[in-house]
Amino acid sequence: MTDPARMHDLSPETTAIVDDVLDYARRRELYHDVPLDKPLTQRELVRLASGTITEEGIGARRAAGLFENVLAPACLSTDHPGYLSFIPSAPSKAATAFDVIVSASSVYGGSWQEGAGVVYAENEVLRWLAAEFGLPAGSGGVFVQGGTIGNLSALVAARDAARRRRRAQGRDDPARWVVVCSSEAHSSIAAAASVMDIDVATAEPDADGRLHGDAVAAVLDAYGDAVMAVVATGGTTNFGIVDDIDTIADVAADRAVWLHVDGAYGLAAMLVPRMRSAFLGVERADSLIVDPHKWLFAPYDACALIYRDPAGARLAHTQHAEYLDPLTDGADWNPSDLAIQLTRRARGIPLWFSLATHGAGQYRAAIEYGIDLARRIADEIEARPGLSLVRDPQLSVVVFRREGWDAATYRAWSDKLLDDQIGFVVPSSHNGQPVLRFAIISPLTTYEKLIEILDTLA
Ligand SMILES: *Cc1c(COP(=O)(O)O)cnc(C)c1O
Repeated sequence: MTDPARMHDLSPETTAIVDDVLDYARRRELYHDVPLDKPLTQRELVRLASGTITEEGIGARRAAGLFENVLAPACLSTDHPGYLSFIPSAPSKAATAFDVIVSASSVYGGSWQEGAGVVYAENEVLRWLAAEFGLPAGSGGVFVQGGTIGNLSALVAARDAARRRRRAQGRDDPARWVVVCSSEAHSSIAAAASVMDIDVATAEPDADGRLHGDAVAAVLDAYGDAVMAVVATGGTTNFGIVDDIDTIADVAADRAVWLHVDGAYGLAAMLVPRMRSAFLGVERADSLIVDPHKWLFAPYDACALIYRDPAGARLAHTQHAEYLDPLTDGADWNPSDLAIQLTRRARGIPLWFSLATHGAGQYRAAIEYGIDLARRIADEIEARPGLSLVRDPQLSVVVFRREGWDAATYRAWSDKLLDDQIGFVVPSSHNGQPVLRFAIISPLTTYEKLIEILDTLA
């Protein structure tokens, strides 16, 4: 008969599995040259890696071997210095190593009663971030899975606050609630609105690409008090453009509308002193997000969601059930009560450890490196015949064109760049025209690496 405890005991077999896995984790963590790798097709993976789930198990050696030799190489290494598409990742060694501890410790990050220690440490990080962004003491939040869930959770809290205010005045909901954002806002705002079954009203940015208060004011006045939130973007994903948050905050405050700042990618730049002025107005946000898995050097997946008034957010998000009463009846700080979630991994802990280890100054330097490198390579692009910048970089995203190429040429070039394992740069588009885009996050991405890529565009 199968021993029910065979997966959990401390037998030599079980111990060997743990040792082998941790050895592999250590090797991967300390690779000298991280391979870029590339995806295989479903058909190829069926051929190479099928039949792993059986009644008897295939054993740790075979399963781990398959992972190391087939499955892992079929995944792009988003921390490769030549990975410049979408938004790359660049978790610090300290953060990724400590992520193993989060799993090994079986801590539950949803409630104070169960996870006081990790919740405390996560809150230290959130408090530090809130102070950097200029939010008052008393603000607070939670690390959620990603920016999409962070934006959704914030907008749900915003609608709940608007709804409570109307109820207090004896009024019902409007026929349709409305959220106002830039036409350049991230797709997750529209996704959140769809989940919430509310409408999105977009305001147009100026010629400088930034959304300003006057454009928002016109839309707010058109929709009146059906508007329950305004979203300003602290660094668009495509271009790294920071909206004029200060004037948007003015018009939102005038009309008592909730201001949410989506800084999933860009708000990290505010840690660099000379960049702070670009984000003026963030300190007036009712809620904001920043993704540590983007530009704060944490592993997937983590979004810091911060509210000016966490007590209000709790009203919107706390789940009530008999079996949860012991948790929700008290005055404890329960992260689960602040977003759409219940069970949660203590996903802020890798960032806490890395930040505690290296200090905030190291973070400021690593972020500033990306901003400076973007500027330098933008100047090089301007100087090269055949290449042109689409706009000056504000943060660490550089968008440019290769003259004379159509979409198919860009795609073929991009495929070859990946086949040659030099870099991962997928074409994007702007105003219907194909463009190239470098998103620079990793302090291991060098000027020389970017030059190597530009040279292939000749
Ligand atoms: C990446 C991004 C998001 C979505 O974040 P996920 O973590 O991918 O869900 C939202 N807003 C902006 C501005 C982003 O750059």
